[in-house]
Amino acid sequence: MTIETIFSKIIKCEINADIVYRDHLVTAFRDIEPKAPVHILIIPNILIKTINDVKPKHKKTLGHMIIIAAKIAKQEGIANNGYRLIINCNKHSGQEIFHIHMHLVGGHPLGPMLIRKK
Ligand code: AMP
Repeated sequence: MTIETIFSKIIKCEINADIVYRDHLVTAFRDIEPKAPVHILIIPNILIKTINDVKPKHKKTLGHMIIIAAKIAKQEGIANNGYRLIINCNKHSGQEIFHIHMHLVGGHPLGPMLIRKK
């Protein structure tokens, strides 16, 4: 069953978002609760709930998400210093919205990616 999320509404312009890029495959907008000076979400225009649901037919869209992430990083002026791309999947990652989204975060030193729990 297709359960649409708030991100589908952003794609369809039914709710407001600070959209920084859009084309026929992806939409990118600023995260509403930014965790870094630049925090942008890049999402496919079609609903794919989690990375576990990715199929070979999604190859073009998923590859495009990375190409657009690099383009936006350049636009935002963070490409040279660097940034991080994150896609959460399911409970242990803390995924909250079940429409896959790539976080593009940067604009200051991000620190270690993960801290091992004791
Ligand atoms: P995740 O934990 O990977 O599922 O990330 C979901 C992200 O979506 C969080 O960083 C939220 O701050 C962000 N978010 C939730 N609702 C909105 C919204 N309406 N517009 C922009 N970002 C949102």
